[in-house]
Amino acid sequence: MVNQTKKKDIRALTKEQLRNFFVAEGDKAFRGNQVYEWLWQKSAHSFEGMTNISKETRDMLEANFVINHIKVDQMQRSSDGTIKNAVRLHDDLIVESVLIPTKTRTTACVSSQVGCSLDCRFCATSRLKRMRNLNPDEIYDQVVAIDNESRLYFERPLTNIVFMGMGEPLMNYNNVLKAIDKITSPEGLGMSPKRITVSTSGVPKMIKKMADDAVRFKLAVSLHSAIDEIRTSIMPFNATFTLADLRESLEYWYAKTNSRITYEYVVWEGINDTQNDVDALVDFCRFAPSKVNLIEYNPIDDGEFRQASSSTLDMYVNTLERNGIIVTVRRSRGKDIDAACGQLANKQ
Ligand code: SAH
Repeated sequence: MVNQTKKKDIRALTKEQLRNFFVAEGDKAFRGNQVYEWLWQKSAHSFEGMTNISKETRDMLEANFVINHIKVDQMQRSSDGTIKNAVRLHDDLIVESVLIPTKTRTTACVSSQVGCSLDCRFCATSRLKRMRNLNPDEIYDQVVAIDNESRLYFERPLTNIVFMGMGEPLMNYNNVLKAIDKITSPEGLGMSPKRITVSTSGVPKMIKKMADDAVRFKLAVSLHSAIDEIRTSIMPFNATFTLADLRESLEYWYAKTNSRITYEYVVWEGINDTQNDVDALVDFCRFAPSKVNLIEYNPIDDGEFRQASSSTLDMYVNTLERNGIIVTVRRSRGKDIDAACGQLANKQ
């Protein structure tokens, strides 16, 4: 009997490594391509089902490798159509991912880490300490699961992906990049990178790295305040990654990619609800074409944070528009099942 613990995760191998493995086994490199296609494009859960591979080769793979897959443990559907998946990983940890349907789109909101190491005071995920990074296949599988659900319940494929689930994607950059490579590759899901948005709370060094890597997906930054003192009080890591550094990294990003930046922003009563706050935001946005998404606040606690009034939102919208900044006011989806922004892991 082969010791289970000695088996390697076959999906951790690149295509090249898989090809080399077969050559080392005295087989053809091409066999690696075939198996790779089964693992990614066809999402095979077992070696047994790889019908164009000989029984002998399948047994050999079985003896050497495991195929890890996520498992959707629980699926909840909101009255507005939103679906939240509780996803069990191979080591029994749980993350959440969300399917958000609109008239014309299906968006997958996926997690990049189990828990989060940042401590945004308004976000439920921050209460779970970061346990580990997700592997590329665990990110990819969340997307596949939502694509399947979209086909099943809405009779159309997934159209967009946002990295706005649990975790900070830029603190798991390499794995997020590998997952996106597979999602966009014709050997994976073949999605356009233009339909993928990575949302970050703002890690300047990694934003510059993304620019250097010439990534083709979109960037969103969770800003919430353009005044250091205020931002630090609600997003304490801002004491280390200050607005000046963030802005410098975003200037670098824009210079290299020419790609517009989206800012996510919640307006809270008594925190960032004055004309001074919106003026600072306008000033922060000036260096590059920008879009501001004003997100509705989803309460996660006993009322420490309260969404500002609609007249305050109007003040934001008017000031931003007057200054030529695109602004959208985004209503939350899936609140009744705790699937809205910042609510993931609220009840676990
Ligand atoms: N760590 C990444 C991605 C996860 S958060 C980031 O910070 O961007 C996804 C978005 O939800 C962020 O813009 C975040 O600021 C926002 N968010 C967090 N908690 C929220 C809440 N309670 N209500 C509304 N939006 C929230």
